[in-house]
Amino acid sequence: MQLPQYVKIVEVGPRDGLQNEPNPVSSETKIELINRLTATGLSAIEVTSMVKPGRIPQLADAESIYQKINKRDGVTYPVLVPNIQGMQRAISVNANEIALFTSASEVFNQKNINCSIAESLQRFEPVIELAQKHNIRIRAYLSCAFGNPYDNDVEFSNVADLSARLIAMGCAEISLGDTFGSCTPLQAQHVVSMVGEKIDVSKIAVHFHDTRGQALANILASLQLDVSIVDSSVAGLGGCPFAKSASGNVASEDVVYMLKGMNIETGVDLEALIDTGNYICQKLGRDNQSKVGRLGVDV
Ligand code: MG
Repeated sequence: MQLPQYVKIVEVGPRDGLQNEPNPVSSETKIELINRLTATGLSAIEVTSMVKPGRIPQLADAESIYQKINKRDGVTYPVLVPNIQGMQRAISVNANEIALFTSASEVFNQKNINCSIAESLQRFEPVIELAQKHNIRIRAYLSCAFGNPYDNDVEFSNVADLSARLIAMGCAEISLGDTFGSCTPLQAQHVVSMVGEKIDVSKIAVHFHDTRGQALANILASLQLDVSIVDSSVAGLGGCPFAKSASGNVASEDVVYMLKGMNIETGVDLEALIDTGNYICQKLGRDNQSKVGRLGVDV
């Protein structure tokens, strides 16, 4: 079986995770969480989102969080940027990476960001220009990349074309999102191979949700096609926004445990990651969605 020797984990818990948590989290806890994640050896940690202050109360402290966290050399700390105002705020805190977001589903894009796919790309243009001027790395989220089973409006050839377009516009990596957690492994390989025909596989990240328990299998299937960037969330933070009490983001501990067991390097200290997951679950008063986190690694 062919597998990459190194996988970059993009830890999305502090943003994608906490954003979907029902209870408010203090700035102090967010900062402690991110500092602990940095100490585990992770090389990419999504910190926060520069959405309009007031729209998501959980994110009102975005700038101060970004400024107060301990940043380690060589680690990227992306922030989600929805528009030019958000980009200016990212620059004001010296963000070293931004994340843009659009969808391969027209219906989902209209519901989520109230514009068409084409309009979203148009909005990216001035944002990308400004990011490039400031030497800020750009990643792009493409949600519904593995389909939208509710509206059935995603063509995988279009996922590949959109990925190529985003790379041509200046994005360094494309995170293909299984937004509804509906994907299964052969479908994952189908989509990844189609995208891999249009862009270099080293620029493909996969963002699987564990809603139906398929995430690790989908990740392994993607690694077999040389994907080497995986998005995950410590303790599986962030329930599935579409199904109450269902899992959303795959847990980082589970991903790192699987990779470690296959001798794939991540640079992450699994024990420290487990401690971090238990720390944040205790703070949030929620169950740890990671089985590895709950049980530990000793058998
Ligand atoms: Mg997610």
